[in-house]
Amino acid sequence: MGRIFSGVQPTGNLHLGNYLGAIRNWVRLQRDHDCIFCIVDLHAITVWQDPAQLRAQTREVTAAFLAAGIDARKHIVFNQSQVAAHAQLAWIFNCVARLGWLNRMTQFKEKSGKDRENASVGLYVYPNLMAADILAYKATHVPVGEDQRQHLELSRDIAQKFNNDFAAPGFFPLPEPLIFGTAARVMSLRDGTKKMSKSDASDYSRINMTDDADALAQKIRKAKTDPAPLPGEEALAVNGNFADAAIAARPEAFNLLAIYAALSDKAPADVVREFAGKDFSHFKNVLTDLAVATLGKIGSEMKRLMADPGEIDAVLADGALRARDISAPIMAEVEKIVGFLRV
Ligand code: ATP
Ligand code: MG
Repeated sequence: MGRIFSGVQPTGNLHLGNYLGAIRNWVRLQRDHDCIFCIVDLHAITVWQDPAQLRAQTREVTAAFLAAGIDARKHIVFNQSQVAAHAQLAWIFNCVARLGWLNRMTQFKEKSGKDRENASVGLYVYPNLMAADILAYKATHVPVGEDQRQHLELSRDIAQKFNNDFAAPGFFPLPEPLIFGTAARVMSLRDGTKKMSKSDASDYSRINMTDDADALAQKIRKAKTDPAPLPGEEALAVNGNFADAAIAARPEAFNLLAIYAALSDKAPADVVREFAGKDFSHFKNVLTDLAVATLGKIGSEMKRLMADPGEIDAVLADGALRARDISAPIMAEVEKIVGFLRV
């Protein structure tokens, strides 16, 4: 495997989906790969962000990376806007990507909602910036949650079209998504058909990485379920995962089971066998204990780190320097390929 790139937006409440779908997998990948982990503040401003909040949340996401176990000395951690290559390459990709491609992006449709005319242009071209993030480093693998699969495919299309249009075969690699396990799509605690999201108005929809034991207990107790007891073996597909039909019939129940499986590192089939026929009040107690044991440490380390912004800022400054070292020669080649005169 070549180089890994991934990012999280500093848009607020980091949640269990960000941890299980992304950050936790990065911690595992960093053992054997060169990794670049980015706090993508340019992406964040595609929807309005209060400037002071944006700065605070940039530090908070950095703290989450470090608290979860990212090694910022061995790998690179920085905030996107400190490296100009992202915005420069994104402009070039705005001229490579086609309107028809962007019109198919479901995230834009979801985030712009009914008021599409009033969405920022940045929100629309968000996937082009994401392609630039990855390709400014010629990254080959991108660990993300399931919701980003479509954007990754667009990044590949952009890389391919750039290589073709400029007769530069193989210049950009075609980046591949790395999507892991049962928690690649953690759903809202209030609605099992919606993904858990930072931007959901209800704090009860998500488990935040900084929630303390009381908050975890309360949110899990209040999480939506259904009156039936926990499912048995009939809920499993032949491959041992939860069957799609079973998930569709009881989305909230299977979301909690998937969260338990991911946090305990157990296979879905083992989790089903463990709790078959039990009621949810029992299961929720066990899940709460597990969540407190696994997330509690990370949350308190985040709070400790956030009390010392100097340490966090030093990590970001050093990461940005090293990120520029990698992207600068790649951008120089891109500019030459495109035909920008340098005198
Ligand atoms: P926003 O609502 O502002 O888009 P978000 O919760 O989607 O916030 P992002 O910063 O956009 O968070 O995504 C960071 C990473 O977390 C991405 O890799 C994304 O795929 C992953 N991710 C986000 N939500 C989930 C989820 N519910 N389950 C699994 N992975 C998720
Ligand atoms: Mg998102």
